[in-house]
Amino acid sequence: MAKNKEGGKPFEIPRPEFPKRAVITGGMPYGNKELHFGHVGGMFVFADTFARFLRDRIGKENVLFVGGTDCYGSPIAEGWRKKVADGEFEGSLTDFVQRNHDKQQKTLDDYGISPDIFAASGLGRSKEIHAEVTDWFINSLYKKGQLNKISTMQFYDEKAGCFLNGRQVIGKCPIEGCNSEKGYADECDLGHQYMPENLIDPVSTLTGEKPSMRPVTNWYFKLRDYEELLKNWIEMLKKRKDVRPVVCKTIEEFLKPPVIYIKREYEEKYLSLKDQMPEHEYFEEPKKPSFTVQFKTLSDCDEAVKVLVNNGIRYRTGKTLVPFRLTGNIEWGVPAPVMDNVEGLTVWVWPESLWAPISFTQTLLEQRGRSRDEWKDYWCSKESGVYQFIGQDNIYFYGIAEPAMWMAQQESAEKTADPAEGEMQMPTIIANHHILFLDKKASSSGAVKPPMADDLLNHYTPEQLRMHWLGLGLGQRSVSFMPKPYNPDAKPEDADPVVKDGLLLSNVYNRMVRTAFYTTQKHFNGIMPSNTPSENILAEGKKAVLDYERHMSKFAFHQCTYVLDSYIRNGSKYMAKTIKEDTPAEELSQALADLFYMIKIAAVLLHPMAPFGTEKVREYLQVGEELWSWDNIFEPLTFFVGEGHELKFLPPRTDFFTRHESQFETAEN
Ligand SMILES: [Zn+2]
Repeated sequence: MAKNKEGGKPFEIPRPEFPKRAVITGGMPYGNKELHFGHVGGMFVFADTFARFLRDRIGKENVLFVGGTDCYGSPIAEGWRKKVADGEFEGSLTDFVQRNHDKQQKTLDDYGISPDIFAASGLGRSKEIHAEVTDWFINSLYKKGQLNKISTMQFYDEKAGCFLNGRQVIGKCPIEGCNSEKGYADECDLGHQYMPENLIDPVSTLTGEKPSMRPVTNWYFKLRDYEELLKNWIEMLKKRKDVRPVVCKTIEEFLKPPVIYIKREYEEKYLSLKDQMPEHEYFEEPKKPSFTVQFKTLSDCDEAVKVLVNNGIRYRTGKTLVPFRLTGNIEWGVPAPVMDNVEGLTVWVWPESLWAPISFTQTLLEQRGRSRDEWKDYWCSKESGVYQFIGQDNIYFYGIAEPAMWMAQQESAEKTADPAEGEMQMPTIIANHHILFLDKKASSSGAVKPPMADDLLNHYTPEQLRMHWLGLGLGQRSVSFMPKPYNPDAKPEDADPVVKDGLLLSNVYNRMVRTAFYTTQKHFNGIMPSNTPSENILAEGKKAVLDYERHMSKFAFHQCTYVLDSYIRNGSKYMAKTIKEDTPAEELSQALADLFYMIKIAAVLLHPMAPFGTEKVREYLQVGEELWSWDNIFEPLTFFVGEGHELKFLPPRTDFFTRHESQFETAEN
């Protein structure tokens, strides 16, 4: 066996280590509609592939992949209100969310996305548990002195006679350099947060009027207290090879010294006031329409803002940490605990969606007849990894607000970015860059409408799409999704990039598996030859496995597809060379054993990416699920089934991986 030789080799790259247990989450899709392609192709496929890999790598029983629909907030309530008014929907708000949740679940099933639970923050048992977890989470922060009660001005529509929330107000984002045209009440669609009074040119979407401001009281998490700890955390992250540069860079932008940008026309006024402001540096930036002043601390910056406001100077602030609002007065939300006699509040949807995966973990454990308390084994143990797959636009929430709140939950008054055993552990954030559509940034509210995930399945098989998306390299840069049937600029002779990426499976690998089965049926009566695979075949298999494992430990999915591409294509060449019509029986037996070994290695490595086809391969190989376990990854098939093993009969013209039926009509190749 190959194992015997391992001890003798002096210079092997150490294999990556994986945790004993793991919880994997994908960003929560919002419950106002079905999934569009970006949910699946920009995020879920990656979370699912990693979850499936870990199940094979560390054992299925040690992996929890939790997801769910984000049910609350003003966009859902607004969306439902409009649909009912337009006669497009009949039923309650809960019915509306349930319908969208069910459709999301169906889409995930169709793509082979395999969360252990796909729950919903506002439906069923997971709703009840989420309400309990929310109550606990906020109360616990309050008792630990991590919250502030802050009174602010909130938009109020005088004509409609009500407070305005979130998307009920629209204006321009006040964050310098932001190009978003969609600035809502206190955040823009790119995730920047600001004080409502700083929103530029606000308009009420209910009446089209300019709203007034009225005072409200809310609970805020003291996010600013975590500036130093977040800096400590970032230093640790920068040393890790599994954390993408976009994560560190985006977080660091919020940790830089606070700055204010002031329009050049106010320069003289500023110069006359600058001695009233805390110590700061002035940066002349001749080419820009504004100049910059930089402060040492956030509180200095606040002082300066007051001076500017009192003197009517318009300004913008840079990205910086602001108190993180936890509550609001949107009716469609999780009730907030009553603390310090402040009643009638609900929890803002963003913060509760950050701990919703904990609620879903508890729901799942309860479903499996285990104690809900065991959530801590996954979220609060150094033996466990917490892997969160998100899009880069949400790094502020998952990479700043969440880790700071997790640290704030530590029992000790002295907080640390390296939590002790039993405390909530810092997550590993895997952020993808944008997946563009036909070279544009698509959003369901924007001019370029992204296709719905379901619609793509009218043109492609789920595995063609999975392989294509995994190969895009979204971890490194934004990439455009260019499916030919949707691309008005595609010429008839152009190859479809999605079909092209699928050929490795639908042509090359499929042919290898078929040849192995049909040859065995023809010459060996369906009994798999039990020769030991050749030395070079074992060595190549081992190299592919170790390369793949190393890339997977760094979430370099596209690199994993490259490893598979060259491994499978080499295998195919080897097959063409060794298995011919006139190959003598003894040689054929060895060639088939080699071929089955390559098929087995490739199947295990493909299993997380292309689950449907690889399960079919396993079915015909007549091997149990132990085939997928990395505990025996280097072993040949005879290790699992012994000698003289009979394969399942493969009828003529049977495929393991195929193209979509629509692609046969056009003879795409
Ligand atoms: Zn913005």
